[in-house]
Amino acid sequence: VVLLIAVDPAFADHDPGPGHPERVARLRAVHDALGVLGVDPGDVLEPRSATREELTRVHSAALVDAVEALARAGGGLVDPDTVLSAGSFEAARRAAGAGLAAVDALAAGRGEVAFCAVRPPGHHATPSRAMGFCLFNNVAVAAAALTAAGERVLVVDWDAHHGNGTQDIFYADPDVLYVSMHEWPLYPGTGALAETGTGRGAGTTCNFPLPAGATGDVYLAAVDEVVAPLAERFRPGWLLVSAGFDAHRADPLTGLGLAAGDYADLTRRLLELVPAGRTVLFLEGGYDLDALRDSVVATLAAAVGEDRRPERATSGGPGHHVVTAAKELHLL
Ligand SMILES: [Zn+2]
Repeated sequence: VVLLIAVDPAFADHDPGPGHPERVARLRAVHDALGVLGVDPGDVLEPRSATREELTRVHSAALVDAVEALARAGGGLVDPDTVLSAGSFEAARRAAGAGLAAVDALAAGRGEVAFCAVRPPGHHATPSRAMGFCLFNNVAVAAAALTAAGERVLVVDWDAHHGNGTQDIFYADPDVLYVSMHEWPLYPGTGALAETGTGRGAGTTCNFPLPAGATGDVYLAAVDEVVAPLAERFRPGWLLVSAGFDAHRADPLTGLGLAAGDYADLTRRLLELVPAGRTVLFLEGGYDLDALRDSVVATLAAAVGEDRRPERATSGGPGHHVVTAAKELHLL
């Protein structure tokens, strides 16, 4: 199984400043994971910049202009958590373009699964707002390109935070099934069970707001009992994963209970929901560097059909009642 990795030196040029958890060193943790997996830097897929047309499928022109202008001016704050440096616009355009390049490469048969090791992350970026460390919504830009080409897309967001931006962008879209497992209550405060989509997109948003301490068995139950049947009904052609690794129990910003091995099981189960060669994973959060490295190793090994688990899968935590409630809401 050929794994494509999208990396770009520009991703290190987005620097939110000293002490910020979404720091450049996160890329080194990912590169360490690639080293453990024996991925040769020569195998990497070079991203391109998303064009203005590609960005404005999901964002207002005003947001694109504002991010560009602030970076050109040397950087600054867009909200208390979200800081731009001079290189941030180019980094963000290429982070969004990485997914587009990955989709094109998979469609052309150049590989079977792709991982976009991008910064800045994207899932909090809404149509009109950069927030929560995110500038442009990388997953949404790729999903919108696919739906524009007539595809149906399953987006699974296992980052510990709810992907409010992705949900907003596709809330009324019948061609994108958005699924999020996240800690609740937690930033940004959205992602309740009752948020299920609207209009023609009614039923195409599925949230699992999980209590702190939830373990891997709860995530697997969510996939097996709810997401898999929903996908069978929805028949997605592509799977895009918002792969944040901050649901790891060591993460300093969150309280969920996963370990690296859980990401292996999740990855294997999710890949079965779409045709072979149609999955792209995107890095979102993940702020403990060792946990990030180990979780990326487990995820990418599983993506190519190998089993490498720096840590065992977890079970026994709370949250099964959320899966039961989601099942009743979406499937009965
Ligand atoms: Zn997160």
